[in-house]
Amino acid sequence: MSDQLDLDNPVERHPTISPPEQDQDFPGSDVGLEPGADIGLSSYRGTGRLQGRKALVTGADSGIGAAVAVAFAREGADVALAYLPDEEEDADRVARVVEEEGGTLVRIPGDVRDRAYCDDLVAKAVEGLGGLDVLVVNAGKQVACEDITELTDEQLDGTLKTNLYAMVWICRAAVPHLQPGSSIIMSSSIQAYQPSAHLVDYAMTKAGMNTFAKGLSQQLAPKGIRVNAVAPGPVWTPLQVVDGQPKDALPEFGQDTPLGRAGQPVELAPAYVFLASAESSFVVGETLNVNGGQPSP
Ligand code: NAD
Ligand code: MG
Repeated sequence: MSDQLDLDNPVERHPTISPPEQDQDFPGSDVGLEPGADIGLSSYRGTGRLQGRKALVTGADSGIGAAVAVAFAREGADVALAYLPDEEEDADRVARVVEEEGGTLVRIPGDVRDRAYCDDLVAKAVEGLGGLDVLVVNAGKQVACEDITELTDEQLDGTLKTNLYAMVWICRAAVPHLQPGSSIIMSSSIQAYQPSAHLVDYAMTKAGMNTFAKGLSQQLAPKGIRVNAVAPGPVWTPLQVVDGQPKDALPEFGQDTPLGRAGQPVELAPAYVFLASAESSFVVGETLNVNGGQPSP
């Protein structure tokens, strides 16, 4: 089986998928995706880049967060997994990898729209891992809505709470525990600068995440804590089938990138590993675009 370090053609590295129209109830599951997504279970090889690091990853059960948690474990990190209580089955797959790699594993299910949970999440991660030096704010909510007159307060509230409030709450709780050398990484999106007509509320939050990362980086850099963001393009994950996209858009999902295909979650992981590790010691307040070639600022 090839891994992320093999030289090959990125156009063909992963198949050009044409997912059938499909629906899952929120929050969706990786194991139910058709076709399946590659979170790196057998395609990410560690090289010791995060030996002994203590990392908390939100939305770590599936998609990008799962690929990040798998990669962190393979790189030698101890990992705390945050996800919704309905996502235990997906989380099991990731937890197995952490255990196989010999790292400390902490599982902290809960809902990030709840501030008390966010505080508790950080406290439990610090306690379970014996400290914290990498925080990945990745849990996210994306629901397509074609017409702003049909955008409900419930959706608006859910999107803002999940993507923005929780980010601030979790960072606020985590910063007192972070030593110099620590790294905070947000999962932003290309939607921050190329908003789709049907994702206006979501796109707004992703721009907010980018700007928050840049601003917070200014505040924390003098303390030796780096804050950055990763902005993925189209990546095949459960988010897309729990109404993240209009159903008729699924068969062509990601085919408009210059590489001609959607990304797989495993292809995002190296960006997070880079930003988490000391290799990126001079990278601060940056947004690393991983989007298959769509021009970005
Ligand atoms: P995903 O569905 O696999 O992951 C999202 C996760 O968010 C879920 O697994 C869930 O655990 C978590 N989550 C959602 N609401 C929550 C809540 N209220 N409380 C706790 N956890 C909650 O999908 P993904 O695509 O891997 O998404 C990960 C991040 O990547 C998101 O922030 C998303 O906006 C971002 N992103 C994804 C894409 C893409 O094309 N898939 C593109 C750009 C950005
Ligand atoms: Mg999930």
